[in-house]
Formats: sequence, structure tokens, C-alpha cells
Amino acid sequence: MRPRLVMKFGGTSLATAEAMQRVAEHVIYEDRPKLVIVSAVGGVTDLLLEAAYAACAKTAAEPFVIEIRKRHFEIVDKLSIDSQVIAQLDQELDRLLTGISMLGELSPRTRDALVSLGERISARLFAATLQKRNHSARAYDSWELGLTTNDVHACAEPRPECLGEISQAISAIEDGLTPVVTGFIGRSPTGEITTLGRGGSDFSAALFGLAAEVEEIQIWTDVQGILRADPRVVPGAEVIPMIRFEEAAELAYFGAKVLHPRTIEPARRKNIPVRVLGTFQVDPKDPTPIWEQGTLIDDRAPSEPVRALALQRQVESLHVHSMRMLEAPGFLSRVFEILARRRISVDVIATSEVSISMTFDRTEGDLNAAIEEISTFAEVEREPNRSILCLVGSGLREDAGLLSRIFDILSQNQVPVYVISQGASRINITLVTDPAHALNGMRALYQELFG
Ligand code: ADP
Ligand code: ASP
Ligand code: MG
Repeated sequence: MRPRLVMKFGGTSLATAEAMQRVAEHVIYEDRPKLVIVSAVGGVTDLLLEAAYAACAKTAAEPFVIEIRKRHFEIVDKLSIDSQVIAQLDQELDRLLTGISMLGELSPRTRDALVSLGERISARLFAATLQKRNHSARAYDSWELGLTTNDVHACAEPRPECLGEISQAISAIEDGLTPVVTGFIGRSPTGEITTLGRGGSDFSAALFGLAAEVEEIQIWTDVQGILRADPRVVPGAEVIPMIRFEEAAELAYFGAKVLHPRTIEPARRKNIPVRVLGTFQVDPKDPTPIWEQGTLIDDRAPSEPVRALALQRQVESLHVHSMRMLEAPGFLSRVFEILARRRISVDVIATSEVSISMTFDRTEGDLNAAIEEISTFAEVEREPNRSILCLVGSGLREDAGLLSRIFDILSQNQVPVYVISQGASRINITLVTDPAHALNGMRALYQELFG
């Protein structure tokens, strides 16, 4: 087959039998050949992790397992799916949890194997849902179609050569069949199951889209598109009709959960437009064409001063200060060499003649050790309780008065700003504030800029 589009459906879109039916309608209604990527049934990934931690601590994992089974088997029953399609994977759940509990140990490798059951089961449930409606479909674990990764569990990196392998595997699928492929998971060359990081099914969709060189990657989710602000902070935030790749990447990176931050890079490599659509908002029977709905990520988006706002509620910041930094070449590289060696990635950075301010999120690395090392040649202040407010827009660089307007709004609302940074591409302004004021700051900016 040669799919013309990838359709990815997130957890909430697949949370119940009714939701699965709705998704089936979107898939059946779309008459171009497509490849479907699915997340786990809504909430199941979290439940699997809870079950794993409970089993490891030898406390009761049972309530979590009961809930997982309830969600899966309710779909089986309501849609009259043959329970055999998930029986083996369901037993695997017990087997893995027994192992974790007996050893009292949860290795990253076992955790990935366990959590992969979510996507593996939902792919089978959804393929069966399509078959029930006489749509030819088959479930695939992503590695059956060539998705291999390195062996860094919980945040595995796809192997560059996998793109060619995926493309070949897809072309060997018979025409007329819709492959339903697990998002989020892959397999290392030695055969261990890996995962691409939480929310990683979007990234899977982009990888399959790139490998198959589709004309569009669709991300179907529980909101009607990418909104100008996080709807949990600004209820009723407006949908963005079009946004450029770079802007969408910044938004995702700075906390807009609707897209996994790594989704954009593969799409952009071949200029494949990404469309974000609401599973429950788009009515398959509505004559409004799909291209007039949701958000289209494409570089043809017209410029706007501010396209959207994003918020990272909880980050750490570090302030490095040294008089020796004055005219001392190599100071910055010394600090960053330590951070890189300790596997700490910096989000926002601002420097002055004698100081550097930085923020970090998702710190995989050893921050304590890095601080200790930097402290041998500079003063280091650590602030664990900070938030980042980010404004994204390709027109920011053209609007000279905008920056002062933004600071007026923040000061009128008593929102403190500790660090200001503007990326080299100047499509974003990031402000470091504190969690107590971040929500208000976002609401005030939204009101003034888009309200
Ligand atoms: P899925 O399971 O479909 O992948 P996610 O929960 O990962 O869905 O992402 C969708 C959620 O992202 C929305 O329900 C919304 O609460 C949140 N979100 C945060 N910022 C934004 C934004 N700017 N636009 C849209 N949704 C956002
Ligand atoms: N099911 C995974 C998660 O909850 C991946 C995804 O939904 O994209 O993180
Ligand atoms: Mg998601």
C-alpha cells in the first residue's frame, strides 16, 4: 500500500466503546489510503504505571489492574469484539506484574514492556472495531513495520535507518487494508520493547508520516485544535487556524501538551503539513471540509505578532554568578560542558556580563552533581520553584512596541519577571516567573492580546 495520510488518535479519543466508534467513523469516512496510529485507551498508561509501582512496592496493584481490565473489557463487550484478540496481552500484564512484585524491582526495561501493553491492546481493539464495520484493518506492533530505536528506555531514540525499513514494510502491506499501528512504543535492535517518552504517539505518527512521505499527518485529540492558550488555564481559548512549524515546535516544547515536542521535526523535514483536529468536534457527516477545521501546521501560515501562549508550571532555575566571567573566555563553555556531561538540558537561558540564568525541566541528569562542580568556580543559586511563560509568534520580531506592552500587562497584574529570554529566531519570548503568578499572568496576557 501507499498511504496518503497518517491519522493519529490520542487516549481520550479511544477511551470508551462510543469513542472508538466515533474514531472508526472518521477513519471509514476518509477515503484516501491511510495508516492509523493509536495511543493506549484513555488513562491506561497512567494505570499501568501505577500498577507497576504498586507491585514493586509490594502494595496492592490489584485495584489498578481491575480498572485497566474494566476499561478494556467494557469495549470488548459493548462492541462484541472477540476477547481472544487481547487475551494473550492481558495475561502478559499479570505475568509482568508478578515478576515485578517477586523481585521488588522495576527496571526501566520491564517498565517499558509493561506500559507498552496499553498501545498494543488498543491497536487490537481498534482494528477489531474497524473489522466489525466491514472495514479491512489489521493491528501492528510498531516494530512489525520497522520502528526500531536505541535502548534508552523511557525516552528511546528512533534509529535513523528505521525510516527506510518502515517505508519498505508499509509498501509490502496489501492495498485496501488499513494498518492500525501502536504509537509510543518501539523495539531496540536486541529485541527489547522501548518507549518514546510520555505523549510519544504524536512523534510515532510523524515518523510514520515521514517514512511513508504522506501528504498530511493528522493528530486527532480531545480539543478542536491547537488553541491560543492552554484551555485548562484559559477556558474558551480560541483555536489557531494556521501556525508555522517552528512556532508549533516552540509551543509544544514550552508546555502545550496537545503535541509532543518531537512531532514537528520529522514533519518539517519533508514539509508534510500536520493537522490537529477534534475527534468529538469534527462531525464526519458535516459537509464542512476537513481543511476548514482544526489547526493546520504549515509554513504558509500568515505572520501574526503573537500566535499563542504556553506555560510550564514547574521548572527549576539556576543562577550562576562570577566576577571572573568578565572578559574570561571559556567561562560559558565550562558551565555548559558540565551541564552536558551531567545530561542536563537547558530550556531558557539569559546571560549578563557576570551571570547566567537558566531553567531546566524534566531533569534526567544529575543537577546536584553539576551544581557542586560549578560551585568550585562560581556562585550558584538554585531556585526549585519557578514557572515559564512563553509567547510565540513569527511577527514578534517585527513589532517593536509589543515587548513594552507585554511588560505593562504583567506589571499591572503584579506578575514578577525574573528572567527574560528571546531565542535567536526571535519567534518566542520566554519569561521566568513563579507558579503563584504564572496562571494569572497567562490569563492577563490572553485577555489583552486575544480577548
Ligand atoms: P491526546 O491524548 O489526544 O494525545 P493530550 O492530552 O496529550 O491528548 O493533549 C491534548 C490536551 O492538551 C488538551 O486536552 C489540553 O488540555 C492540552 N493543551 C495544553 N495546551 C494546549 C493548547 N495550546 N492547545 C490545545 N490543547 C492544549
Ligand atoms: N499512551 C502514552 C501516554 O499516555 C503515549 C501517548 O498517549 O501519546 O503517554
Ligand atoms: Mg498526547
